[in-house]
Amino acid sequence: MSPQILEKTKEPQEGVLQRTQQVIQEALQIMGCDESCYDLLKEPLRILTVRIPVKMDNGQIKVFTGYRAQHNDAVGPTKGGVRFHPDVTEEEVKALSMWMSMKCGITNLPYGGGKGGVRCDPRSMSPRELELLSRGYVRAVSQIVGPTKDIPAPDVYTNSQVMAWMMDEYSRIREFDSPGFITGKPLVLGGSQGRESSTALGVTIVLKEACKVLGIAVEDSRVIIQGFGNAGSFLAKFLYDAGARIVGISDAYGALYDPDGLDIDDLLDRRDSFGTVTHLFQSRITNEELLVQPCDILIPAAIENQITEANADHIQAKIVIEAANGPTTAHATKVLTERGILIVPDVLASAGGVVVSYFEWVQNNQGYYWEENEIIHKLQNILISSFYSIYETSRKEKVDMRLAAYIVGLKKMVDAAKWRGWI
Ligand code: GLU
Repeated sequence: MSPQILEKTKEPQEGVLQRTQQVIQEALQIMGCDESCYDLLKEPLRILTVRIPVKMDNGQIKVFTGYRAQHNDAVGPTKGGVRFHPDVTEEEVKALSMWMSMKCGITNLPYGGGKGGVRCDPRSMSPRELELLSRGYVRAVSQIVGPTKDIPAPDVYTNSQVMAWMMDEYSRIREFDSPGFITGKPLVLGGSQGRESSTALGVTIVLKEACKVLGIAVEDSRVIIQGFGNAGSFLAKFLYDAGARIVGISDAYGALYDPDGLDIDDLLDRRDSFGTVTHLFQSRITNEELLVQPCDILIPAAIENQITEANADHIQAKIVIEAANGPTTAHATKVLTERGILIVPDVLASAGGVVVSYFEWVQNNQGYYWEENEIIHKLQNILISSFYSIYETSRKEKVDMRLAAYIVGLKKMVDAAKWRGWI
């Protein structure tokens, strides 16, 4: 049996870009902005499509398609990860760059959103092939990226090793060491303390505040986490250590559910080199089955379009915290909100990664490095204040948390664009 990369549920009638445009349009209307504002922000300012030839281990050349989208640079350089995944499309990368703009706006970073992706199946590629692909991608996009233009980072199936190759390639092209070109690097190459676990830590910080407002005690709660990758596995550990009962987890092979709680330390120890573990258990259920099991907190931490029209009525959680990008469709957001389930949207819940990326970039620029405690403290301050400004906006405007997050996220970008005379 080989691991299957988790598939997005195909929803042709509601693509991720269209879904994002709808929320942006609604948010701008509530903010009293005119049509020219929506016209500026409805698509990235720039999208580059590249084709990257790689000599594979069998001696044949394979040409991969990649993208880099830059949503808007009114506030500052664009910022966002690069994903390696077989389902990457131009539309997806565009939407993801817009979500990055929201994350940066919500957390008040001096960036706009960017995103990159390469259509490939990293699990079937050797380290040598992945290195050539990573370097080839940087050569192909090198004209439009850089420490003061657009700063890449890890995303789905890219990690600190990929960042190291990319940074090395960029430094060679520019002929000087350029650690600020990319974030999520290994510590020895100018990475930041706390970056690897930062997305999960951010989710944990925001989750604690969401529990506070709903009067739920984290230590008495039952949690399901879909996805056992970077975000999901750290998250399981943080919440397990905080005393929560982790009743469900999943990976590319399937899912485990135990109402009495899973032994997360044991599962983490038994992961294989791809981080998967559920294939060791006969009692495995599917990812789809996992999402509708009883719990208090449901955390989709894998990929887009997991909570949809098909299962939104059956979700049994009190809170859905989106650690993945775009796991809930617009229709499902409506259904969950109507059912009184609090959604903590991706653009807030998963913003911890880019916030610590920003700290990494600042440290690279100043050449002076902070200790982990300082990073955690700064991250907490930012995310707690972001959570409450979104929660209060949602109450004041009587809108769901996603729309509230977009209202907060767009504000600085709109102001900056006005000052620059773009709208
Ligand atoms: N890929 C991460 C995200 O989607 C991190 C981006 C970054 O650090 O720039 O938020």
